[in-house]
Amino acid sequence: MPDILTRLQTALGDAAVLSGAAVRARSAGIWGPEHCLEADILVRPSDTDGVSRALRICHAAGQAVVVHGGLTGVVDGAHAGSGDVVLSLERLTGIEDCDPLGATLTVRAGTTLQQVQEAAEEHELMFPLDLGARGSATIGGNAATNAGGNRVIRYGMMRSLVLGLEAVLADGTVLTSMNRMLKNNAGYDLKQLFIGTEGTLGVVTRLVLRLVPKPASQDTALVAVPDFAALCRLLGHAGAALGGTLSAYEVMWQDFYTFVVNGQSRAAPPLSGEYPYYVLIESLGADPAGDAERFAAVMAEAMEQGLIVDAVIAKSRAEQNSLWSIRDDVVQLLAIKPMFLFDVSLPLTDVETYIRGVRVRLAEAWPDHRLFVFGHLGDGNIHLAIAAGAADGQARTAVEAIVYGPLAAVGGSVSAEHGIGLEKKPYLAWCRSATEIAMMRTLKQALDPKGILNPGKVLD
Ligand SMILES: Cc1cc2nc3c(=O)[nH]c(=O)nc-3n(C[C@H](O)[C@H](O)[C@H](O)COP(=O)(O)OP(=O)(O)OC[C@H]3O[C@@H](n4cnc5c(N)ncnc54)[C@H](O)[C@@H]3O)c2cc1C
Repeated sequence: MPDILTRLQTALGDAAVLSGAAVRARSAGIWGPEHCLEADILVRPSDTDGVSRALRICHAAGQAVVVHGGLTGVVDGAHAGSGDVVLSLERLTGIEDCDPLGATLTVRAGTTLQQVQEAAEEHELMFPLDLGARGSATIGGNAATNAGGNRVIRYGMMRSLVLGLEAVLADGTVLTSMNRMLKNNAGYDLKQLFIGTEGTLGVVTRLVLRLVPKPASQDTALVAVPDFAALCRLLGHAGAALGGTLSAYEVMWQDFYTFVVNGQSRAAPPLSGEYPYYVLIESLGADPAGDAERFAAVMAEAMEQGLIVDAVIAKSRAEQNSLWSIRDDVVQLLAIKPMFLFDVSLPLTDVETYIRGVRVRLAEAWPDHRLFVFGHLGDGNIHLAIAAGAADGQARTAVEAIVYGPLAAVGGSVSAEHGIGLEKKPYLAWCRSATEIAMMRTLKQALDPKGILNPGKVLD
């Protein structure tokens, strides 16, 4: 019997199969050229049938397969070891169809999020998912991780933006469920099995996405806020006074803001760094003149009420992009080594006490630690970037205990939007019950009984 490399080459053609040095020369993610792939074989089919044939061969051989999208994931979900076959979606790209009337976009899974956004715009529509890694992250990866991002407060996470989906199961079976309607309650909604399950139950190959009308107005402000209570009141005020057009409420704690604005080659930070909190507020509407006036009035009211102590409202698209670049410039934090990144969620009412507790415990263990906090506060989603101790597993585990430890008591989650991957697997049981985890295992066993898809990710 020919070896698996030969069988894959025969079934898919040489262009679709890389091996040896050609694979190991490739980057394993966003973490820089020093991190290269360890796998020996990489398949990159250009259509669903190719994905199916590759999986059928791997399934028959009991061969582990790791799915790769844009490799921007941050929980080691796409980690491939030397014995794994990597299945990359890099050639399964392109927009298949846009239906402006039904407001849907049919797209192949390897297409980047930015290409999806641009394709929607060509039809005067918008695909509202947005995140800093938009230029590299794939739409299939976004579905597999149920990505969140900057506009969840208005449009929901990826799950609420997928109408239909096609996936290939571990044994090569193609499950086509390309629904285009907003309403379809005919039996189980099977697409949900592949959204947020990080490539452990199937490989997403095509999607039908839900679009919304392209906003005619976009108003953006960066505001400084005096304390946490004001931060919460401002969220309520903006939500109500902007009449449902609030689309982003991105909070940066002082440490994050000052680090990013001082590190950028910008002429001068838009606001001085003396305040405890900064919020990027965005409103998307349909009436440019009226919306801008209302937005300015809402900010002015908030200032009168003492919820805002300083503010800058963007006057052009360039200024909006410049304000967003502060919040998006997360990668700059990675210049500090070691830097441990966290993505947790918890009820808004508990956030201030939680962050204070983490800060105290970090200071007790590492007086010279650095903590940067930012996040999608409107969704109860906080990111923490922590530099503490040495770049070893011991320091990381101790920091994890400090960050994850208090979450269960307040009903929080160890993963708000990044998923579990390998990195958070030891902590899944800290926020999911034994019954929930048993049900996850049942699904995995039913759909991938040989355990070949992304083995060891999410569940053991
Ligand atoms: C600067 C930056 C900002 C970010 N901001 C956000 C943010 O705001 N919100 C957020 O949620 N995430 C964010 N992320 C994380 C990341 O961008 C998302 O998780 C994204 O959805 C991953 O897409 P990807 O194509 O890069 O997937 P990959 O990293 O390639 O893979 C991620 C996981 O999905 C699986 N997978 C990938 N493609 C498929 C497929 N077609 N079928 C089945 N499984 C698949 C992989 O096996 C892996 O388990 C950010 C990352 C960076 C670097």
